Parts: sequence; structure tokens; C-alpha cells
Amino acid sequence: MEKYLQVKATNPEILEKAENGGAVTSLLKFLLESNTVEGVLNIKKEKDVYDGIPTFTTDADELIETAGSLHCAPTMISDIIARHLKDEKIAVTTKPCDAMAIDEIIKRCGINRDNVYMIGLNCGGTVQPIVAEKMIKLFYDINPEEVVSEEINKGKFIVELADGTEKSVKIDDLEDEGYGRRENCQRCELKIPRKADVACGNWGSSKGYTFVEINTPKGEQLIQNAIDNGYIEAKEASEKQIKIRKKVENIMIKMAKKTQKKQL
Ligand SMILES: Cc1cc2nc3c(=O)[nH]c(=O)nc-3n(C[C@H](O)[C@H](O)[C@H](O)COP(=O)(O)OP(=O)(O)OC[C@H]3O[C@@H](n4cnc5c(N)ncnc54)[C@H](O)[C@@H]3O)c2cc1C
Repeated sequence: MEKYLQVKATNPEILEKAENGGAVTSLLKFLLESNTVEGVLNIKKEKDVYDGIPTFTTDADELIETAGSLHCAPTMISDIIARHLKDEKIAVTTKPCDAMAIDEIIKRCGINRDNVYMIGLNCGGTVQPIVAEKMIKLFYDINPEEVVSEEINKGKFIVELADGTEKSVKIDDLEDEGYGRRENCQRCELKIPRKADVACGNWGSSKGYTFVEINTPKGEQLIQNAIDNGYIEAKEASEKQIKIRKKVENIMIKMAKKTQKKQL
């Protein structure tokens, strides 16, 4: 569809807790509060940053606890839908691999695509929780339990401690030593989930906004309804921002292809 927007939550609590502009949490909240869906399947931080667990909620007030991105989380969201949520109207957050798998189980299990809102997240890769703890001990020289948040940015895995200190190591350096992202993620060429109704990310976006690519008419309608009902604000993405995002995507794809050659 080639439609790009920069989106920001209107709710200050969501803006504060969200990874970027809070578009994802706001869209999920709108879908629940408007009774468009019966429940939301996404990821919540439990004990610590290494403990991202899938969670299903029917209460819009609980969504705030799920805001933010977790890189150390499982990747079997589609399986949960196939086993437990086949007949429900749901919204689900999806990395590109999740979106591809959900698309497949929709066909295999005869799920009605209209009943599933896929809110996509761009993805540069995930890290196995046990690997993350080990590499933080080894490369960052800190106790993994002291980490309060983590992010992947500009080719680095960055951790933050309770006192606000940040420590970062280049992902390339971690991966050369057998740590870093899952090997599948290192080889993955699918960085933007275009099978999802919308694909949300930070590449190309202004600070405090989520960059949203609209992929389906259902996604377009959802964004419009969320704007009309005051859940989000949106502005056009500039040509320059769209170009920057495309450039980063292409670099990531090139890196994945290089790793495919190395690993396979
Ligand atoms: C593992 C991972 C890697 C990412 N890499 C990139 C990248 O390289 N480039 C880029 O542009 N954007 C990337 N993103 C997307 C980015 O971090 C934000 O999620 C996105 O911009 C939406 O921001 P927001 O403020 O609107 O989301 P929020 O309002 O904070 O909502 C985030 C939603 O994502 C859900 N979530 C958190 N972790 C996961 C997970 N592991 N799997 C599925 N759902 C999850 C949360 O439960 C929440 O519902 C990545 C996200 C993840 C989870």
C-alpha cells in the first residue's frame, strides 16, 4: 500500500512507558475499548528483562504493563493462537517471523483473518534469555540481575542499570564470539512485517514517534478510527524519513545475506 505515518499516543502514561511513540499500545487499547477485539496477545516483562512472557489480556487497563520492547522473549506466539485462540477476535503484536507464522496457521487452522488484528513490529533480531545473561556477565562486567532495561540500537546491544548508567557492546563483537542474537535472527532477511496490518518501528522516525507502515485496508481503517477516537495523533512521514528507513532495512538485509553465506 506504501503508506507511511509517524504516530504518537495521546495518553501521557502510554507515551512515558512505551518504547517509541506508543502507537502499538494505543492501537491495542482502542481495539479492546471499542470491543473490536475480545483480547490482546502480546509480551509482558515478568521477573526481569530476560523474562518476557506471552500474555493474553481482556482488560484494557492492564495493557500499560505490556508497553515497551523486549528482545529476550520467546518466539512461539502463532502456536498459542493455533492451540488456544482459534475462535476469538484478537489483536496480536507480531515480529516479522510471528506474522509469517500466523499467516500460515490462519490457512492451516481455518482461522478467519478478519478476526485477527496483526500489529507488527519491525525487528532487527532477538536474543535467547540465557545467552543474554551469560554475555552480560562476560562482556559488560556487570551482574545481569542489575539490568533494568535493554535495547538494540545502531548496531549495539545496550543495557541500562538502576542508577541510569548505560553500557553497550557492538553486536558484531558479541556475535563473533558466539553470543548476541539468535542465529536464525542473524540470517533473517525479513525485518519489516508486511503481512501484518500495520508495521511499527523506530527506523526513520522523529524522536517520540512510532513510524508506521500501513499494509492492509484493515490497518488503514484501524489507524483512522484510532485518530477519530482520540487515541493517537498522526503526521505524514517525510520523503527523507522514508528513505532513511529503507536504507537501514537494506543494510540489515545485506548483513543477513552475508551471515547466511558464513553460517550455511
Ligand atoms: C525484538 C524486537 C526487535 C526490534 N527491532 C527493531 C528494529 O531493528 N528496528 C525498528 O525500527 N524497530 C524495531 N523494533 C520495534 C520497536 O522496538 C517498537 O516495538 C516499535 O517501534 C513500536 O513502538 P511503540 O512505542 O509504538 O510500542 P509500545 O507501545 O511500547 O508497544 C510495544 C508492544 O510490543 C509488544 N512486545 C514487546 N516485545 C515483544 C516481542 N519480543 N515480541 C512480540 N511483541 C512484543 C509489547 O507487549 C507491546 O504490546 C523491535 C521490537 C522488538 C520487540
